[in-house]
Parts: sequence; structure tokens; C-alpha cells
Amino acid sequence: MDALQVGLRVRVPFGNRQMVGLIAAISEHSNVPASKLKRASELIDHSPLLPESLWKLCIWTSSYYQHGLGDTLSSALPVLLRRGEPALARQDLLWQLLPGAYPEHPAISRAPKQKEAVQVLARHPHGLSHALINQLGLTRDALESLERKGLAQRISQSPHHISEPQPLLRETPLTANEEQQAALDAILAAEGFNVWLLEGVTGSGKTEVYLQAIEHCLQQSRQALVLIPEIGLTPQTLERFRRRFNVPVAILHSGLNDRERLDAWIAAREGEAGIVIGTRSAIFTPLARPGLIIVDEEHDLSYKQQDGLRYNARDLAVYRAHLEQVSIVLGSATPSFETLHNVQPGRYQRLRLTQRAGNASPPTFQCLDIRSRPLEGGMSRPLIQLMGEHLRQGNQALVFINRRGFAPTLMCHDCGWMAECRRCDARMTLHQSPAQLHCHHCGSQRSVDRSCPKCQCQDLRPIGAGTERTEEHLINCFPDFPVLRIDRDTMTRKQAMQSMLARIQSGEPCLLVGTQMLAKGHHFPDVTLVAILDADGGLFSTDFRGPERMAQLIIQVAGRAGRAEKPGQVLIQTHMAEHQLLLDLTEHDYSRFAERELAARATAQLPPYSFMALLRAESNSSAQTHQFLDEACELAEQLTASLGVTGVELLGPVPSPMERRAGRHRAQLLVLAGQRSTLHQLLHSWLSALEQHPLARRVRWSIDVDPLDM
Ligand code: ADP
Ligand code: ZN
Ligand code: ZN
Repeated sequence: MDALQVGLRVRVPFGNRQMVGLIAAISEHSNVPASKLKRASELIDHSPLLPESLWKLCIWTSSYYQHGLGDTLSSALPVLLRRGEPALARQDLLWQLLPGAYPEHPAISRAPKQKEAVQVLARHPHGLSHALINQLGLTRDALESLERKGLAQRISQSPHHISEPQPLLRETPLTANEEQQAALDAILAAEGFNVWLLEGVTGSGKTEVYLQAIEHCLQQSRQALVLIPEIGLTPQTLERFRRRFNVPVAILHSGLNDRERLDAWIAAREGEAGIVIGTRSAIFTPLARPGLIIVDEEHDLSYKQQDGLRYNARDLAVYRAHLEQVSIVLGSATPSFETLHNVQPGRYQRLRLTQRAGNASPPTFQCLDIRSRPLEGGMSRPLIQLMGEHLRQGNQALVFINRRGFAPTLMCHDCGWMAECRRCDARMTLHQSPAQLHCHHCGSQRSVDRSCPKCQCQDLRPIGAGTERTEEHLINCFPDFPVLRIDRDTMTRKQAMQSMLARIQSGEPCLLVGTQMLAKGHHFPDVTLVAILDADGGLFSTDFRGPERMAQLIIQVAGRAGRAEKPGQVLIQTHMAEHQLLLDLTEHDYSRFAERELAARATAQLPPYSFMALLRAESNSSAQTHQFLDEACELAEQLTASLGVTGVELLGPVPSPMERRAGRHRAQLLVLAGQRSTLHQLLHSWLSALEQHPLARRVRWSIDVDPLDM
């Protein structure tokens, strides 16, 4: 029998079910009487599922985020392993070309997928493992067609011992410019654990730095883990990694089915995948020979999980790099304040790319004061005129508006009634195709009112503009140019983004209208004008991070302009053209803004100069929600006194920014501490006590450590 070890899975009887568990600790004794102990029915694994470093990461995650270890470990594992499947790739089955197969073969001249499969298989003369087929973008269908045509076959062999040395690179790297080289020299010379902030303006060639750092890592037969914010939105980035190297790239994202996810996970754990690229949860992917971690767009909010285990993958990545004793590169044009704050005491080392790579020059910024100017589709006349000029010069223009749908509200022109969600404290958004009212907070939908429910007047008007309305107006203004809308409603099909990007890349003069989806990471060489329709929202946010977010968004969106030889222009419509944030950004840069804003945070003792945890609660009754939080607050006060914890402030409880959502009443209590350690000391005792609270089972509550969303 195999020896018991921490990290092995077992099947255990639980009531009248069998469940899968992980051995978390081994003890000779138990406080539970022997008669009550049950025997595990099966030992599933022969060796621990997770390498030691990852096991430690999970334990740390569980304690840092005050989340149960069981659930933490379970979040870290692919679904199939949670269900007790063996930790093996589909099988050690390989696909191989048969002699006489070549890409120009007449039998596949009209089958591009099969042609591509032949090209890929040709690079794997000893066979391509099943686990990698999906990762390399091939389909089973294509391979089976090749098999029927006598061009490929399946063989059964273990893939691990037969791969022949191949050149590492599939294409020649770009020649790094001076700043890129300086960054690379620093990163490559360092040994062990180092945190690098690669702060590079948009278009400065951060990706090229990642690629060359990865090359170095692969040369030492080590693996690189790359976290990116959203995979579906940036197929171009993935393509660049695949195109560069001859090593298998495992990609982990939400579009994978359970089997594909497990195969990719195993390819990473076995060391077969040289590069592992994934979104947030990929931080829990085991690596056989970790060498480098990269977090692209480190400021991005999508790294923070907003429910269940509320971890921040960027922060975990730094801790993981420490556990693995490897370098980590945090890349961004607009670093988060947390990261900037870590640069000052020298915990992180800053590398700067201040110039755009190649021949591209930075865009020029300009605020357009729209006070008392008429807006149509959210746009002022001067903006429309400017767009016309860019289009006529054969260029593309991008319009950013952070609201999808036709209009954010529907209003009665007679009495001022507005369409509201019945389940939330929010207005319904009017959508046009199909015509419906949507609540963007709870997802509920209903048909558009024909007359005002309050005064029966028929004159109901859409107020304000969303992407649909902007699109409609642009089509009217520029009937001769295509208008492409990119938001969550037009991008529902899997390939929609890819085909849209291909169209933009073709370079035809056109107008792009879109939300955040357009802001991130894309390379649009022919966009010369970027217009931000409404910058004012972020300037008045109730969240103290509002300005930081707004500045990041403006810089990221602006970064889509002028990425090639053609210079770019950025226009920001605002009612507050003399707002300090806008002045900092338009006349200086993000650093200037960040310096000023960080100083303000320091004065106010807000993060990153203090540490926060947010206790959220919701229930069907507002009174119950508040009672729970009031008592939680009292409990925390007692505990701070009895533990002798100082420098902790309790703010609230207060209603959440949207008090009622999906029919539930929500409120929150903020805990603010000068020291991370005191915060955790309090949280630890407080949460154990809260779990015993009589209301804890009637109110839905959660703790969010380092919340990003207030
Ligand atoms: P970032 O990620 O910093 O926004 P990218 O890595 O996307 O920038 O690079 C922007 C563009 O510059 C890309 O088209 C890239 O191919 C090009 N580029 C990057 N480095 C170089 C270089 N050293 N020489 C020439 N072009 C480069
Ligand atoms: Zn009315
Ligand atoms: Zn709603």
C-alpha cells in the first residue's frame, strides 16, 4: 500500500455519499472517539497533486483571505480532479504525420484547418500529444479527416521521452531598443526572487520584453507562467507567444471544457508545457520547473476575484514567486497604486520604457469642453467634424463610451418618471435591438413601457447615450463608412472578437464604438483618433479609487491611438476641463497624476497607506442586515479591546452603494488598520466569532480582504 502523504486525494464516506478529499495533515491521534471515526474508502493518488510550493501558496491564501482551506484548495484544482478523476492527461496518445503528407497536398488544398494541422504535426515528427492538440489550436475533426485521407495516424507512446531537441525559436526576436535592453539586462542578471515593475507607456514594447525574458527562461529548461487579464479579448497577444517559440504553450481560460483544462493543467505540472498562459485562476497552476512569472496589465481589476475566495491573483503571483524563488515581472502603462507604493521602499524594482517602440510616437491629448454644447448620440459637433477629417485621410477613429445599450434611462417627458428596476435601486437601461429594458445589475429584463405608469403620458424619451445610440448616430453622420460596435452585446459569439479584429486590422477607414473591451491591450495601427465621450463619471465617484480607475482607463483607451507610423490624437469630452486629474494627464503623464493622488491617499491614510477589509452582508430584510452588521461591529470593538489591538478603525455599518440589488438589502462595514498584521490579528478572532453568531446563518455575508470594490 502507498504511504499516506499530505496532498493525496482520498475518497471518504460522508453521510450516505462518497466525497473526494485531500489529506491536509496526518496525525496519530484524534479527539474524536475511535467509534465515530470512519475509514477512507480509497486512496486516489500515488503522489501529491500539488508541488510543495503550491500547497504552501494555498495555505497562505486561505489564511490571508480568511477563507476555508478546503474551499481554497478546491478552487485551485481543475473540476475533474475535484471529482476524483485520475491526474493523467487524456492518454498518452500521439498524432503523427504519415510519409507523403505536406501542407500543399492536393487532398487538403481547400481545408485550411487540416493544412494547419499538417504544418503543426510536421514540427512534431515524433508525435503530438493529445493534451497539446487543443493548446496548439488544432481540432480533433481536422486530425481525424487527415487520418481518413491517409495523411496522419495515431500512435500510442509516452510523449515524455521522445521529443527531439529543436531550435527554441520559431521566429527571430525584434532587436530590443535601448530601454528594452536595459530592462532585460536587469531582469536576466538577477537571481532568485525579484519583483520588477515594468512601467512602459502604451506601445512601448512590454510584450517584447516578456518574450525575450521567457526565451532566457526556456533556455534554462524552465517554465514561464504568464497571467493576462482576459484571453477572449486579446487573441493577438496569445498569437505572439505561439508564433515566437517552438515549445508547447498551455492556455488556461474560461472557454475550456473540463477535460481540456485538466490536460493543460497536467501539461504544466509535468513540465511538458514551456509556457503557461492564463487568466486569474491560472495562478494556481502547478509547474514542474518554474522559472519566471509575468503579470501583464498588473493594475487590471479582473485579477481580483469578486466572489467566493476573493483573492487578488497579482498579489498571489508575487507571493508565489517568493515561494518558488523566481523573478516576477509586473507590467503596466498605468501601475496600480499598491504596486507604485511598493517601489518606493525598494521592495519592487522599477524598470521604465518611456518611448513607444519602433517609429510610433505618443498621442497628443486634448480636452473638449462640452459645457452648453448640444450632444447627439453622446457626441459634440466638433468631435464629429474631427472624425470626418480622420476618416477622409484614410484612417480609423475609435469612440469609447463606457455604457452599453441605447440609453441609460427612459424618462417621461411630462412628469419625470424614470424606468427603474423592480429588484434593484437602479435605473433600467434601454436596449434597442431587440427593444427591451435591461437591468445591468441583476440581469432582469422587461418590455419597454408604451406610456408612463404614473401619468399615462405617451411621451417617453431615452435620456443619455449608450453604445447603440452612439453607433446609430455615427451611421447617420457617416453613411459611407462602416461603424463597428464592440461591447458585451455584440461580442456574444465566440469568434466575434476575432473577426472584428481582423476587420480593423485590414486597415479600411472605419469607426469603432465600444466599451472597456476596446480599451485593453489591442494593437490598432490605423486608429489615429480616440475619443472618450464622457470622462466626468470617474471624477465624481464615491469610491476613493475612482480617480485612479478613471486615469488608468483614459491612458489605456488613449493608448490605442497612433500605434504605428501615423501620429495619434486623443480627445476627451468633459464638463470639467480644468479638473486636476485631466490637467495632469493631458499636460503631463500618469506618473504626475499618480504622485499627486498618492500624496492625497497618504494624507487621508487610505490604501496603500493603510489596510482594509470589508464585511458585506445582505438579506431579504434591511433590518436583519443592519442588525447583523451592528452586532458584528460591537463584537469587533470588544475584540480590539480584549486583544489589545491598536490602530484599527471601524467605519459603518452603512448601506452598500446600491442598497437593494436583485431584491436583497445590502450593507457593509469597513475595517481600516494602519498595519497589515493588526488587521489580520483582529480578522482571525472576529471571523471565528462571527461564524457562531445566531444571525450568521440567516444573513448572507462575506469578508473581503483588500477589497477593490467599495
Ligand atoms: P505594449 O505591450 O507595451 O503596449 P507592444 O509590446 O504591443 O507594446 O508593442 C507595440 C508595438 O511595437 C508592436 O507592434 C511591437 O511589435 C512593436 N515593437 C516592440 N518592440 C520593438 C522593437 N524593439 N523594435 C521595433 N518594434 C517593436
Ligand atoms: Zn409621466
Ligand atoms: Zn435589477
